[in-house]
Amino acid sequence: MELKVNNCRVCSTSIKPFMTFGKMPIANGFLTAEQFKGEYYFELAPAFCNKCGMLQLIEQPEPEMMFHENYAFFSSLSKHMQIHFRDFANQVKNRVLKDCEDPFVVELGSNDGIMLGNFKDDGIHHLGIEPSENVADVARSKGIQTVSEFFNLKLAEQIVADHGHADVVLSANVMCHIPDINSVAEGISLLLKSDGMLIFEDPYLGDMLIKTSYDQIYDEHVFIFSATSVAWLFGQHGLELIDVLPQLTHGGSMRYVLAPKGSHPISENVGNIFIREREQGLDKAETYDLFRKNCEASKERLVNLLKEEKKVGRRVVGYGATSKSTTILNYCGIGPSLIEFISDTTPLKQGKFSPGMHIPVKPYETFTENYPDTALLLAWNHQTEIMEKEKGFTEHGGRWLSPLPEEKSKT
Ligand SMILES: [Zn+2]
Repeated sequence: MELKVNNCRVCSTSIKPFMTFGKMPIANGFLTAEQFKGEYYFELAPAFCNKCGMLQLIEQPEPEMMFHENYAFFSSLSKHMQIHFRDFANQVKNRVLKDCEDPFVVELGSNDGIMLGNFKDDGIHHLGIEPSENVADVARSKGIQTVSEFFNLKLAEQIVADHGHADVVLSANVMCHIPDINSVAEGISLLLKSDGMLIFEDPYLGDMLIKTSYDQIYDEHVFIFSATSVAWLFGQHGLELIDVLPQLTHGGSMRYVLAPKGSHPISENVGNIFIREREQGLDKAETYDLFRKNCEASKERLVNLLKEEKKVGRRVVGYGATSKSTTILNYCGIGPSLIEFISDTTPLKQGKFSPGMHIPVKPYETFTENYPDTALLLAWNHQTEIMEKEKGFTEHGGRWLSPLPEEKSKT
């Protein structure tokens, strides 16, 4: 797979970016001062394919640069995500597995086992695929069967030979990371039983456009899916969309349920969402032109707010050294002159600097021991959880600043 493409990664139609966020470092590439000199950059530019409807990056770094042994994201650190995946697993058990004899569940990008643990605890035959070795080790230490490889047709054949066909293939916030998506779809199609199901969720294009949440666009997210593009993509590999279930996670996600063509009835949700996506203009170039303008307005708003804080002498600290904040900080050109430091609970990031803009990342205690005047909520998608946790800051008179404007319907 080419790292930089001129043609759609799904259907090979010629595509051109409708905007650029400029030169961008690796979103999760928190680094030491010694590493500043050799920092890697690529052009972050999304394009829309008007044949299959897929929103995608035209350029992506090597997967090994993004998902390596020091990959610092552990899903189980978030309590809300633990609850979310327990509910996800329960739905799968009730909807798919209740009639299966000795079911087999496979998850692509199983991280530290946050989802599969719910199946393992019930003694259900499972297999996690997690390319990041250190994250996979955490899952294995919890007794969750995990292989550390990238999923493709060859690995699918190996899994079928070792374990048989799967009743369900799951993934969450993973499918949109995979540039060679046709190979993965082909592998899933081979891996599934003839009445099996593929159930996955990812950030949803419709929400991103409505909220101007452009921080969904970063190196790892090579695709931003819609129901239309998902149906087109998997339709090429014998699977059809049979249901869609909107999710509140990651600022607006969609759970897609697919199955071999003709094996299951199709929910009316599917026809309805196709209509909604056309009404929202997801198939029109003007919609993406408007999104670009909204991003520019969002940038101007945030930079002006931060400059104003600086002018009146208020201390501003970033809250949450997230991957997605790399797009915001670099696109807006926000560095240590506007943000004193970013507080984060992940030990691997502490003592390092944010990618590109080189804002120091400090332990969470640095935030609580000497509250700033204002906190920029970079981890805005965990807002509810954070507001509960940080009552002390708010009671102390601390103010929250959102990096994105309030949600409003603009499309
Ligand atoms: Zn296409």
